[in-house]
Amino acid sequence: MSRVGSRPKPSSPDIEARIRNQRRRDTDPEKLLRSALWRRGLRYCVDVNVVGRRRKVDLAFTRSKVAVFVDGCFWHRCPEHGSVPRANRVWWLAKLDANVERNLDSNREPTSAGWLVIRVWEHEDPAKAADRIEGRFVGGDQAAAIVVM
Ligand SMILES: [Zn+2]
Repeated sequence: MSRVGSRPKPSSPDIEARIRNQRRRDTDPEKLLRSALWRRGLRYCVDVNVVGRRRKVDLAFTRSKVAVFVDGCFWHRCPEHGSVPRANRVWWLAKLDANVERNLDSNREPTSAGWLVIRVWEHEDPAKAADRIEGRFVGGDQAAAIVVM
């Protein structure tokens, strides 16, 4: 994996705000997705290691072995909204490419341990993303994912 040097000074208030708002967990898109899933009766663990200790997943359905990542459009280079800041462009390209590479690496471990990995973009409609996830449980697996409260 490429090594990215230390972060250059933010070149604009916009970039500075993006960096400041980069939260590792409990982002708004994550919270919206979680409540959409919860309303459907799907129960999950949040921010857990599913295999090994290297990478945490945002949501995990442990019995069904479904892992969900919610990816920010900027940080994970969404094909629709991803952009590379013009200032310090070389650094940003290396940084964002490393994130994408890291995503692939994060998929690898759970996948090889029999998990299904689902990645959701922050721009996705939470209800549609929840449909997509719920669809994975159809066919008998759903009961295993539901914990009656
Ligand atoms: Zn996007």
